[in-house]
Amino acid sequence: MNIGKDKITYLDNNATTQIAPEVVEAMLPFLTEFYGNPSSSYRFGNQITLAIEKAREQVAALIVADPREIIFTSCGTESDNAAIHSALITQPGKKHIITTKVEHSAVKKQTEYLESQGYEITRLDVDSDGMISPDTLEAAIRPDTAIVSIMWANNETGVLFPVEQFAEVCKKKNVLFHTDAVQAVGKIPINMAANKIDMLSLSGHKLHCPKGVGVLFVRKRVNFKPYSIGGGQERGKRGGTENVASIVALGKACELALHLMDKENTEVRKLRDDLENGLKAAIPGVKINGESSPRLPNTISIAIDGVEADAILVNLDREGICASSGSACTTGSLEPSHVLKAMGLSDEAAKGSIRLSLSVYNQRKDIDQALEALPRIISKLRTPVPA
Ligand SMILES: *Cc1c(COP(=O)(O)O)cnc(C)c1O
Repeated sequence: MNIGKDKITYLDNNATTQIAPEVVEAMLPFLTEFYGNPSSSYRFGNQITLAIEKAREQVAALIVADPREIIFTSCGTESDNAAIHSALITQPGKKHIITTKVEHSAVKKQTEYLESQGYEITRLDVDSDGMISPDTLEAAIRPDTAIVSIMWANNETGVLFPVEQFAEVCKKKNVLFHTDAVQAVGKIPINMAANKIDMLSLSGHKLHCPKGVGVLFVRKRVNFKPYSIGGGQERGKRGGTENVASIVALGKACELALHLMDKENTEVRKLRDDLENGLKAAIPGVKINGESSPRLPNTISIAIDGVEADAILVNLDREGICASSGSACTTGSLEPSHVLKAMGLSDEAAKGSIRLSLSVYNQRKDIDQALEALPRIISKLRTPVPA
């Protein structure tokens, strides 16, 4: 446990992010001085409610929503689970769910579980660019479809789905539309006042806030039933005493993100493009997964011919460079990424893919280091060991 942040080059920001110092500063008083329970009747508790409501406004401002549409949860996974759960129990006659073959395990595993419980799941296929057309979605909707759940930005490839168009299709067909926007929030502009998305999930730790806090946006007038049932917190929409310090932190992180969005799309994008182009030039036999689709400004998914990603990652780790193959949640299993498989990559190409993901804390020297290390490591791994 002694590899601190000063010893590493962190290129895995889609797995989690550094907590912004401003965020730590904002949350600390709620771990030390102001520990009251917001549901208590005395002022020491009451004042906490004000801090939570301020955070709710900060989150709402980032995605242009009404603060009353923001429900604080324990993580992105809970938000995803709660959205789908609510759609099913508020429409008990509808047993069909539409999702995709490239979702994060939060939605993937939940829908697999629901399938085992008798629900019918349609998993839309993506093309070789990782894309799905609104027409494909429209054709899959049935009278018994309870909800469509499709992610905004893919955590492995960064591919952006046209979720606002998907939401239009669903509105026309009178079906609920949920999006897992965990990777999109803070990286691309999101305006809930200008789209028809019914529910949206986000997570703090992908956004320079601590782990263990998330949000589910539920549009006004959408019938919502809680997943976590208990006290009347969050206007009865999420039982459980509020994670006050982390909620305050998430508010601050959203406020920062509003200001850093521009940097994300200029400076971070430039670093990403330079890294991507540098790797393509320096390493023969590479391909960028999802290259011709709209993508997040921070993500590179690169397939490298004839080399196992796991071997590359071990070598990178020796030099203090943190990167990932597929998503963190499936790392450790030898299965090729379901996302890359759905895009038509062979098992070999999928197992030879690594993900590099940047943030506003990355600097030019990080890119230079990766551009020096990766071609060298790959060339070494490609050299046959003499018999
Ligand atoms: C990280 C992630 C999640 C899960 O969020 P947690 O807060 O870790 O539960 C869900 N969806 C996507 C796309 C993610 O990247």
